[in-house]
Amino acid sequence: MKQSIETLCVHGGDHRFPDSREALSMPIYQTAAFAHPDLGHSPDRFYYTRLTNPTRNHLEETVAALEGAEKAIAFTSGMAAITAVFELFAPGDRIVASADLYGGTVLLFDSISKKNGLNLELVDTTDADAVRAAVTPGTRAVYIETPSNPMMNVTDIRLCAELAHSVGAILIVDNTFLSPYFQNPIALGADIVIHSGTKYLGGHNDTLAGFICLKDDTYSEKLYKISYTLGATLSPFDSWLMIRGIKTLAIRMERAQENALKIANWLKTQKNVTKVYYVGLPEHPGYAVNAQQSRGSGAMLSFAVATPELAQQILAKVKIITFAESLGGPESLITFPATQTHADVAPEERERLGITDCFLRMSVGLEKAEDLIADLNQAMNG
Ligand SMILES: *Cc1c(COP(=O)(O)O)cnc(C)c1O
Repeated sequence: MKQSIETLCVHGGDHRFPDSREALSMPIYQTAAFAHPDLGHSPDRFYYTRLTNPTRNHLEETVAALEGAEKAIAFTSGMAAITAVFELFAPGDRIVASADLYGGTVLLFDSISKKNGLNLELVDTTDADAVRAAVTPGTRAVYIETPSNPMMNVTDIRLCAELAHSVGAILIVDNTFLSPYFQNPIALGADIVIHSGTKYLGGHNDTLAGFICLKDDTYSEKLYKISYTLGATLSPFDSWLMIRGIKTLAIRMERAQENALKIANWLKTQKNVTKVYYVGLPEHPGYAVNAQQSRGSGAMLSFAVATPELAQQILAKVKIITFAESLGGPESLITFPATQTHADVAPEERERLGITDCFLRMSVGLEKAEDLIADLNQAMNG
């Protein structure tokens, strides 16, 4: 029976695991290894937890169902998932990527992938002509994030899939910001989808996890082997925390998005706010493309204020909103990308991207919107 995403979040990929004694909550199989029935017979499906574990399997089937993927693999963090994907490439391979990628991905590339001979070409993927010019017969992959961090730039997923496939390259999409609740890149042509499960999927600011979701089985054996060889597979307990977090993904995303829109509209009325970056505002340059390829705008927004001093004042004076990195949890967080999330980006490059000393990023959480607005108001105008 076909199920909607809200139902899949609650019940997961395979509803009841055969040995779970009808438990409503998937048991945590906290074991490193599984017994062999006798010589010549291996245990059924499960041998050793680094390779397979029933709790992790249930989570992987759930995430695959949410993304409309053939298979999902759960990792210890989003970065572990991204590292595994980069292991698909060989020295000399060219990858075209969004110019404002997640800082950790850029760092991975600069400190590890480059040394392994990969070439990463950063382009403004919101500009169709720039992507068209960059994707050439030597390109092995196009790697995008949409909306991007922290500028909320929107990239056309269908167009990138078409351009990548026209030269025999694959499209990889980091779908962390909108989560599978609002956006399913595989349905738009992506080959591989990445998530930092630490964010909306886990949803409670308490667990690190990452996922790779695969359109078909072209890379599934290879990536599964990479995952257990690296030893980066998610533990049974953290897998269970992810399963529990995902049960409420739909209602959390709806509520956080509602709050984000209220805050974005309030920020627009403030004389000391010079610009608001939220994909859900009709004046956002990516509004139309985002509306065509997703079911929502999410709950991440950025804004610029009149002076660097005011930005500092807001960070110092917020009471309910917390000055912290990360995103996607119940607690609203605010951060200062110039010195926090994007500290590793060269100052000229930061300036070019618009990440100035007046720029703040917010992960809007699940508190009452009016309380969050009152908090921003006292921090900004108090
Ligand atoms: C946080 C994040 C990552 C990295 O995930 P970790 O779980 O912190 O390793 C990758 N991509 C995006 C867009 C993120 O926000």
